[in-house]
Amino acid sequence: MNNPNISSPDFARSKDTIVHPTFLTFFEPHFPYFIFYCFFFFLSCISYIIYDIIIMSSNIRKKLIKERSGLLVELASLQGILHGSLVERYTVCSRPNCKCHQGDRHGPVRCLVINVDGKQRQKYIPNKKVVEAMSGLKQYRRLQEIVSRITMLNLQLFKEDKDD
Ligand SMILES: [Zn+2]
Repeated sequence: MNNPNISSPDFARSKDTIVHPTFLTFFEPHFPYFIFYCFFFFLSCISYIIYDIIIMSSNIRKKLIKERSGLLVELASLQGILHGSLVERYTVCSRPNCKCHQGDRHGPVRCLVINVDGKQRQKYIPNKKVVEAMSGLKQYRRLQEIVSRITMLNLQLFKEDKDD
């Protein structure tokens, strides 16, 4: 085979000039390449981090805009909104001999107390519309929640825009 015979005279003659391979003697000729690869790796890492930050920011923006769109769609569905307070009233009629004048008042009658030009007004709600009126009041509360949430989303979007 081609294995050198270490006991041969040729090997004995040349052994003084042989530099035994160490890590450094192996590494030294490749050092510029190593520096180049390190630099390239470093650049790749930096690029990836920047790319990741941009993508993350873009994803946050998309998520915020998507949530806002969903809330605006929901807002459009709140068509029965009523702003006021539903109260029950017991009334007295105009017939002089009616039992209501002895304390047994008619009722309950539902009214919606609303604010018109700074003044309170009571609007009669027919019995068959009471459930609908209650739903309208609930929709108003949801409207307030949605407006508050959209305010927070828009403020967060301002912040995201500033960071771009
Ligand atoms: Zn009466």
